[in-house]
Amino acid sequence: MYLYNSLTHMKELFQPNSPDMVKMYTCGPTVYHYAHIGNLRTYIMEDVLEKALNYLGYPVKRVMNITDVGHLSSDADTGEDKMLKGAKREHKSVMEIAQYYTDAFFADCEKLNIKKPDLVQPATGCIPEFIRIVEGLLDKGFAYVAGGNVYFDTSKLEKYNVFYDHDEEDLAVGVREGVEEDPNKRNKNDFVLWFTKSKFEDQALKWESPWGVGYPGWHIECSGISMKYFGEELDIHAGGIDNAFPHHTNEIAQSESYLGHKWCNYWFHVHHLNTDGGKMSKSKGEFLTVSLLEEKGYDPMAYRLFCLQSHYRRNLVFSWENLDNAAAAYEKLIAKIAGLQENGAVEQADFEKLKERFVGALNGDLNTSLAVTALYDVLKAKTSDATKLAALADFDRVLSLNLIPAAQVLRKKQAAEAAAAYDPEIDALVAARTEAKKAKNFAEADRIRAELKARSIEIIDTPQGVKWRKV
Ligand code: AMP
Ligand code: ZN
Repeated sequence: MYLYNSLTHMKELFQPNSPDMVKMYTCGPTVYHYAHIGNLRTYIMEDVLEKALNYLGYPVKRVMNITDVGHLSSDADTGEDKMLKGAKREHKSVMEIAQYYTDAFFADCEKLNIKKPDLVQPATGCIPEFIRIVEGLLDKGFAYVAGGNVYFDTSKLEKYNVFYDHDEEDLAVGVREGVEEDPNKRNKNDFVLWFTKSKFEDQALKWESPWGVGYPGWHIECSGISMKYFGEELDIHAGGIDNAFPHHTNEIAQSESYLGHKWCNYWFHVHHLNTDGGKMSKSKGEFLTVSLLEEKGYDPMAYRLFCLQSHYRRNLVFSWENLDNAAAAYEKLIAKIAGLQENGAVEQADFEKLKERFVGALNGDLNTSLAVTALYDVLKAKTSDATKLAALADFDRVLSLNLIPAAQVLRKKQAAEAAAAYDPEIDALVAARTEAKKAKNFAEADRIRAELKARSIEIIDTPQGVKWRKV
């Protein structure tokens, strides 16, 4: 499989360190609010990546963190703790908020057929691991204590800004207007590994550490959790593109300084879901959730298809019109599949040919829009229905669009509707009218038509014979 690697800015042949297990790490949600459909675009594409790797013969083990501490309003380690902000908003404790929004996140994932990673680890459960890494970085001279906090010293690195080539001086450090710079930092890009001097006296979660009671910085959690479960090497690390800087840049800085060697070989970044007003974001307060889409009558699968129709390395613009188009396409797709006959044999050669196109799409940097085209190719193909159904079920191991089960539900619904419409008395009247017409007894035919009309039955004369329907 060829994948674009953000680290090298090239499509590369994906080669895991061991063919037996791909070690895949993904940044999890900050659980202070519901996930919006932008966040979920990232999780959908990561899910497709994991399933595609498995499908193509690279068995994956996936670990994900849950950020329940340390993520401040600005990614440059200033501003309010997001968890605390959520707790205040809802008059609950931080842990209650974390549990509630973690559960809500996985409920949304389930609706979107996003598989739960093999291992999910809240950051608050790994404090000793983080402390160990911070100690190691201090021992090796990559960190310093200032004003009670522990900072990573970016001036000790040969290259800090590993994902981009532009001038390091120009880095914005996630600094936003209204967020003050931390005077303890020796260098502009230094970041906090461990906080003790939070300007928030009421910081809810604190732990003992060699540097005083405090809490970990956000970046250290992904390095610590990944090393806890995967050891010193990682094959692939994924997240949204906004995480590339500073979060992933800092993860690499601290992990490789601590380990003394390269840490992760491939970096997979999903681009944003945007609205007219720019990136959809939780901190802006107004955002769309899966539940809201459902309330408006959309099947979550329509949103999944909407995401799959575009490549993960392109920004995707959300509009209701675009979603409506995806919903209509999904409905049509399922109706076509429901029309396929389940009997008959699978033509193996045809099946392989169809699969080849699908595999080609996945191999080419996870081109899901081409993979969706391969799906339509199946429906158009000149082969048996059984072959088509087999190919669709096979592709859906990766796409997870509920293709076969949704078609079965539709078929059952159509059968139930047909059964509900069956009425032998009406059939008898319709037949009697046809006979009357044949016998040129038009008065009787008209009388029967009027009787049916009184019963709200409309008669339709078609080339295939007379049909009726309730109006
Ligand atoms: P957060 O819960 O804010 O830590 O974000 C969870 C994941 O969603 C991260 O991988 C982010 O990079 C990603 N993300 C945030 N906003 C968007 C967006 N508008 N479109 C796609 N992914 C996003
Ligand atoms: Zn992370």
